[in-house]
Amino acid sequence: MLRISNLHASIAGKEVLQGINLELKSGEIHAIMGPNGAGKSSLSNVLMGNRSYQVLSGEVTLDGIDLLTLPTYQRAAAGLFLAAQDPMEIPGVPLRSLLREALIAQGRGVEAEETSLNARLELEADSIGVPTMMLDRAVNVDASGGEKKRLETLQLSILQPRIALLDELDSGLDVDALRDVARRVERQAHAPEVGTEAIGVVAITHYRRLLDELHPDAVHILVNGKIVKSGGLEIADELERDGYGAYVEEDAGEFIFP
Ligand code: ADP
Ligand code: MG
Repeated sequence: MLRISNLHASIAGKEVLQGINLELKSGEIHAIMGPNGAGKSSLSNVLMGNRSYQVLSGEVTLDGIDLLTLPTYQRAAAGLFLAAQDPMEIPGVPLRSLLREALIAQGRGVEAEETSLNARLELEADSIGVPTMMLDRAVNVDASGGEKKRLETLQLSILQPRIALLDELDSGLDVDALRDVARRVERQAHAPEVGTEAIGVVAITHYRRLLDELHPDAVHILVNGKIVKSGGLEIADELERDGYGAYVEEDAGEFIFP
């Protein structure tokens, strides 16, 4: 279980997380929606340990392990995975090598063994429409926005973390890719393959369409660094209809209209 309690954090002197509380169990998919600049990417960055952010107070634990004291690679080893909003390009490092080294670093040498890893990679790449030649290209270099999102999903399916943070995984994907990627992720959470554990997913998105495929167990609205409402899919419908107006105004308490 990932447990976030009263998390406050700032970047460049601005408090972008103002008391986040969230509990997520494996097998659950939680969607986070919110206007631009609400703090959604900040939350995923703080959870993963981006050192540009300063944690002011609060607690984050994964299966009881205090994540906030750990460097990023140890958070990854503890089972946390981030598909970033803007995936990083890594010149000179082929995706296949990255994944092999990541598995070895996590003590999963058996899975990193060449024949079995290659077989899995081909299978997974095929299921989400990644051409196999991309496995031997430098990670994300010369890839389109949509291709990067597929490559992130491929990493997720190979690394099988405990908790996956997906920051706008749907952005830049065409309808078919969106469906393939969302179904792959949903399967890992709601219907894992025999012998693998269900993962927990935090999916940040602006679009109801992703949620139609992901079937989230909960939807949260994040505004001004706080979760202001939680519920089910009806929340996404409400946002599609009415926008964030109600929440944004509520928060800007000083505004008095004549
Ligand atoms: P979201 O992902 O919800 O659109 P972000 O978490 O990216 O929002 O940003 C939250 C706020 O933090 C925004 O006001 C943004 O301008 C600010 N912010 C993010 N990164 C930086 C930075 N490196 N320096 C200064 N402000 C930042
Ligand atoms: Mg963002």
